[in-house]
Parts: sequence; structure tokens; C-alpha cells
Amino acid sequence: MADQDTRAQLAEHLRLLRDFGVEGVSRDAAWRVRVAPVQARPAIETLTVIRDDLGECTRCKLHTLGRQQIVFGVGNPSAALMFIGEAPGHDEDLQGIPFVGRAGQLLTKIIEAIDLTRDEVYIANIIKCRPPENRNPEPDEVAACEPFVFRQVQSIQPTVIVALGTFAAQTLLRTKDPISRLRGNVFQYGNARLMPTFHPAYLLRSPERKRDVWEDMKKVRALLRQDGPETA
Ligand code: SF4
Repeated sequence: MADQDTRAQLAEHLRLLRDFGVEGVSRDAAWRVRVAPVQARPAIETLTVIRDDLGECTRCKLHTLGRQQIVFGVGNPSAALMFIGEAPGHDEDLQGIPFVGRAGQLLTKIIEAIDLTRDEVYIANIIKCRPPENRNPEPDEVAACEPFVFRQVQSIQPTVIVALGTFAAQTLLRTKDPISRLRGNVFQYGNARLMPTFHPAYLLRSPERKRDVWEDMKKVRALLRQDGPETA
């Protein structure tokens, strides 16, 4: 009876192997060493781990140029939609939260226009410390800081990323094309779709471009509903 049970288990095991595509087995030891070990999937880092790794960062000179605090990012750590801007400004540097000044208030309206709230999305910048006088980040600063936003994207695994402004779009897409040419197009970015659009600070100076951003955000909303346009 015990032998019958063992044979039945063996038959079941072989059927399972056949279903996985295994065409034969051997008792030869040399055959066994050719079997590749099962690769463990790399664990996804949490945002807390990434923030802890950033620490009181001194990886680039911006830590010596008057920053009040690091502005890491806020929002839903499992957000389907992630916004990535350039760098903190004055208000963000004081509060430690991205997009809280006038441009941030406009971003909040943009988010609400597609029926979401700030709590439902994730918001971060390429650069985590305020550049003095809001100057453009320099290449060495970008090189030091960008790995952290890439890790944030990997952790959150958004469906759609909106790159806000020239700097974010060019950094994420590794291009020198101007935002005026990039915006409105959907790009594949890893497993996510990426939509470049104008930065809210630019919209404050050029309100006539709000219409373009609304068109871009309608595409974002469609992508989130998984009936969006093809990538560029
Ligand atoms: Fe570190 Fe980024 Fe701040 Fe530079 S900008 S000090 S790399 S956190």
C-alpha cells in the first residue's frame, strides 16, 4: 500500500514537471548540476529604506549652499500616478514638502482636475535640496541625486509618471529635446508610461499654456484608465 502511494506521488510529480516543460529526468549526477538555481526576485525597497539611505545627505555641494532640509517626496507609496519636478524652491525648503508654494497650489488643482487628490498620488523632485537662488541644478548635483528618484520610481512602481518641466523630462528621458517638443507625447519608461508637460511655475508666468497641460492631463487620465494612447 505504501509502495502504491509512493508511485502515485512520483507519477503526480512527473506530471507536474511535464507541465513545466521538463522533457526528461536522469539519475546521472552530471545532469543535476546543469539545473539552474531558481533566481529570487529582487525585493522592492520601501521608501523608508531609500530615505534612510539618503540620510543627512552630503553627496553633493548643495548641502553646503543654504539648504534648510532635504525634500524627499510625499504621497501614496503605492500611487498609480507620480509627479516628478525639478528641485525644491523657497517654500519647499522651509516646509520639507515638494510643491507647496504657488506652483504647488496650481499642481494641486491640476491633480484635482483629473479627479484625484494629492494624497492619492506621489510627488517628488529630481533634486532633493534647494539650489541657491533657485538656479538650475548642475550636472554633478544631478549625478549625485538622481539615483534616489530612480529608486523612488522603482519602489512606487507607478502606472504613469508626469515629468514636470524641461529639467525633469530631459533627465528622465535622457534627452536634450525641449519640453515644447516633448510634451503631449507618451513615452515608455520602464514599466510605466511617462508624460512630459509644462512645469506649474511656467504656467504661472505663461497662463495661456494651461490649455496644453489640460490636454496632457486628459491623456494621463486615459492612461490611468488603461485606454490611453500609444507611446511615442
Ligand atoms: Fe544629497 Fe541630493 Fe541634497 Fe545633493 S541634492 S546633498 S545628492 S540630497
